[in-house]
Order: sequence, then structure tokens, then C-alpha cells
Amino acid sequence: MSDEIYDVIIIGGSYAGLSSAMQLGRARRKVLVIDEGLRRNRFASRSHGFLTQDGVDPAVIAADARAQVMKYPTVEWLSAHASAGRRIEKAEPGGASFGVLAGGQRYWSRRLVLATGVRDLLPTIEGLEERWGKSVFHCPYCHGYELNQGDIGVIATSALSMHHALMLPDWGLTTFLLNGAFEPDGEQMSTLAARGVKVERSLIKAIVAGADVDLEDGRRLSFSGLFTMAPFELSSPIAEQLGLEMELGPIGSVIKTDAMKETSIRGVFACGDAARLMASVALAVGDGNLAGAAAHRSLMFDTI
Ligand SMILES: Cc1cc2nc3c(=O)[nH]c(=O)nc-3n(C[C@H](O)[C@H](O)[C@H](O)COP(=O)(O)OP(=O)(O)OC[C@H]3O[C@@H](n4cnc5c(N)ncnc54)[C@H](O)[C@@H]3O)c2cc1C
Repeated sequence: MSDEIYDVIIIGGSYAGLSSAMQLGRARRKVLVIDEGLRRNRFASRSHGFLTQDGVDPAVIAADARAQVMKYPTVEWLSAHASAGRRIEKAEPGGASFGVLAGGQRYWSRRLVLATGVRDLLPTIEGLEERWGKSVFHCPYCHGYELNQGDIGVIATSALSMHHALMLPDWGLTTFLLNGAFEPDGEQMSTLAARGVKVERSLIKAIVAGADVDLEDGRRLSFSGLFTMAPFELSSPIAEQLGLEMELGPIGSVIKTDAMKETSIRGVFACGDAARLMASVALAVGDGNLAGAAAHRSLMFDTI
């Protein structure tokens, strides 16, 4: 067990967690960032839509961010999986409110920031998983432009995929591959037609080559890229273990926070994909920035 009591432990050291750590490091607070290195976008070689970093390898953005944050001497880094976060009912001597287990040790802090992200639950289609982030995507703003207005396939996972199918024509001629997941009604068919979307009902056998789709009926459809709306789950059960309130979204639940990123338990903040329904690197960075400042203010002004 470590005797040290950190002002803040941040679980998750990607864009949101590092952004939070930067605010706290700049306030000269003692911070421990615990991270196991499994960023959501680790499958992609280019990240788009974040000003000053458009088209940069997401691993490079994360590594630069970490190097900048670690220049602040009060910030420490631990490469480990954090397996438990616990609210201490009776304050520990020294004022710790939270205990976190990571790498076989218990660490203590006065405040906790959860920046643990989410995990995409991909549809089980042969050839899809290995193409995730390369030629199969979820976010048109992130990867649509680079398809250069070529043919796009949208693989349905549920009725919610209608939204995807209606958006994608802004990036290229779109085919909606229903794959038995959903059947549009008459009104939906008219809306799809109005956006110029072709509808394909034959089941998908496999994704091959770049983004070609082999259908069960023997045809092969060629696309510049494919999109699918995969549901997601929180990467870590820590929010559940702490009993935090959740916010239910259309394809997954995230940690509920107030406008200052504080969760339903005082002193616990959450940011990035784990705590917002709309996800991007830029939003995670902004969110982390806010959570870091809010955790700092809480240290100064709140009794928890
Ligand atoms: C294929 C793909 C491509 C994408 N492309 C883009 C793009 O081009 N542009 C864009 O803006 N967005 C893109 N995104 C979205 C982007 O990846 C996320 O919005 C962003 O990563 C969220 O940052 P975050 O810090 O909240 O979470 P993450 O980046 O997912 O980081 C969470 C961190 O917490 C760590 N962690 C989780 N649990 C624990 C634990 N128990 N103990 C220790 N560490 C833990 C993880 O290992 C990880 O390092 C893409 C997503 C995908 C899936």
C-alpha cells in the first residue's frame, strides 16, 4: 500500500484524462494518472476533426499530450489496470476520500476523475473487426471526407442505423445494407429514396479486400468505405462499483454528470466518452479540461 495521498487520481490517461491532468498539474496539485493504454481509436492510423491535429496519427496525439502533461512535476503516471475505486465512508487520516487498486497496490486520493472511455461492441460479421478504424468506421465526421465521395455502405445494426444511412449521402453515394437487422417501413423507404440511398436486403457473408462486401446471394459490392453504428459499453466497471448514476443513450449508457462534470457522488468527476453521448477527441479534451478545473475547485471549496 502506498502512504501517499494524492489530491486527485485520474483513471484513464488518454485525451480526456490527460487534459484533466494538465489543468491540475498547472494548479500544482498532486495527481496520479493510471492508464492501461487501450484508447478507443487505437485501431485507426489517422485522427480527423481536432484543430491543429487534423490527419495526425491518434497515437502521436496521445503521446505528445502525455509528454506535455508529464513536464508538470506534481503529475505522476502509472501504467496499470485500475480494478477498483472505492468511496471511503469514514475519512482516512490525511483526508483521503477514495481508494483505488492498481498494479497490486492501493492508492488514496481526495478526489477522483474517471476518464476511462468506452468499448465498441462490433457486429459479428466476418472480416469486420480487423477493418475497424481502417475501412469500417462509425463516425462520418471523423472518416467520411477521406473517402473522396466514393461509394459508401452502411451496415444496419438496428432501426437506429436509419440515422446513419440518412447522413452518409453527404459523403458519398450510399447503400444501406439491412443485413436482416431491420426493415424500413413505407415512410422510411420514402425518406431513404429522397436522400438517394439504395437499399440492399441480401445478407452479408463477409467483408473482403478493403471494403468490399460479399453477399450470401453470391454478389460482391465494392465500396470506398463502410459505416456501422455499433453499440458501446463503459470500458471499466468502476462507475458501477461506486454506484454512480448513469445516463441512458440510444446505443449505450454513460456516466451522468452535471454541467461541471461532477457525478452523482460528490468529489467524483467523469469526462470524455465515458461521460458524454457525443464522442470525439476534441470533445474529450474539452471535457477533461472542465473536469480538471472542477476537481481543483472542489478541492478548494467543497467539503465532501
Ligand atoms: C475506430 C475509431 C476511430 C476514431 N476516429 C476519430 C477521429 O478521427 N476523430 C475524433 O475526434 N474521434 C475519433 N474517434 C473517437 C475517439 O477515439 C474518442 O472520442 C476518444 O478516444 C475519447 O477519448 P477518451 O479519453 O474519453 O477515451 P479513450 O481515448 O478511449 O481513453 C480511455 C483510456 O482509459 C483507459 N482505461 C479504461 N479503463 C481503465 C482502467 N480500469 N484502468 C486503467 N486505465 C483504464 C484506457 O486504456 C484508455 O487509455 C474514433 C473512435 C474509433 C473507435
